[in-house]
Amino acid sequence: MRKKIIAGNWKMNTTREQAEILGSEVVNMVADEVNSDALVVIAPPFVHLSLVGKHVLPHPNVYLGAQNCSQHEKGAYTGEISVEILQSVGVEYIILGHSERREHAGETNEVLAAKVDSVIAGEITPIFCCGESLEVREAGTEIDFVSKQLTESLFHLSAEDLKKVVIAYEPIWAIGTGKTASSQQAQDMHAALRAHLAGKYGQDVANEISILYGGSVKPANAEELFGQPDVDGGLVGGASLKSRDFVDIVKSMA
Ligand code: PEP
Repeated sequence: MRKKIIAGNWKMNTTREQAEILGSEVVNMVADEVNSDALVVIAPPFVHLSLVGKHVLPHPNVYLGAQNCSQHEKGAYTGEISVEILQSVGVEYIILGHSERREHAGETNEVLAAKVDSVIAGEITPIFCCGESLEVREAGTEIDFVSKQLTESLFHLSAEDLKKVVIAYEPIWAIGTGKTASSQQAQDMHAALRAHLAGKYGQDVANEISILYGGSVKPANAEELFGQPDVDGGLVGGASLKSRDFVDIVKSMA
């Protein structure tokens, strides 16, 4: 059975003090209020990983995530962070290919294929982000566009390794805009991506891959989105910065 996952991407937010408060509040609220088998991932800025990890690591269902990593193993890459470094502070999930990194850091499908390999080799779970712009959606080519992102960054993997990947479908027009994809739009894309995976790897493998939805998920829309048969959880940006909202979203996954 595929895992249900709610991941919070804090992006470039939180001072040290705010990170400690937010991390501890989320972990305590999950411990007190959540009794489902949904997994929770918290991805703070790199510099707060150890601090937030102190709260997260003792909880069996809450995991530490990073927002990016280098594709290189180690060495002269000033300002970069390797999988090994992240692993050494307790990171178990790494978000890859967020649309903001594709846009601002020029990450291509090819670079992301190399990052996916490094993360899997380090025995960490990649959360591979994909999604189309408004322009692509208006042209009606969104399924081809997103399928190509999967083909070019994931389809070199063996079936065994593909099963280690979590996919996050995040339509760019819905990220941080307050504009959510309708539950039908999310379901249609998730089903199309699962069919694309099945075309290459077979239905049994495709059925094991968790596909999360991301883009203005909030307590008010989470239950309907997560109720779709091919939506296995969410990648949450803005709402993950408020412990009450984030934990209410986690509770919608139950
Ligand atoms: C994200 O950045 O992954 C995201 C989905 O952001 P938001 O929830 O704020 O739209």
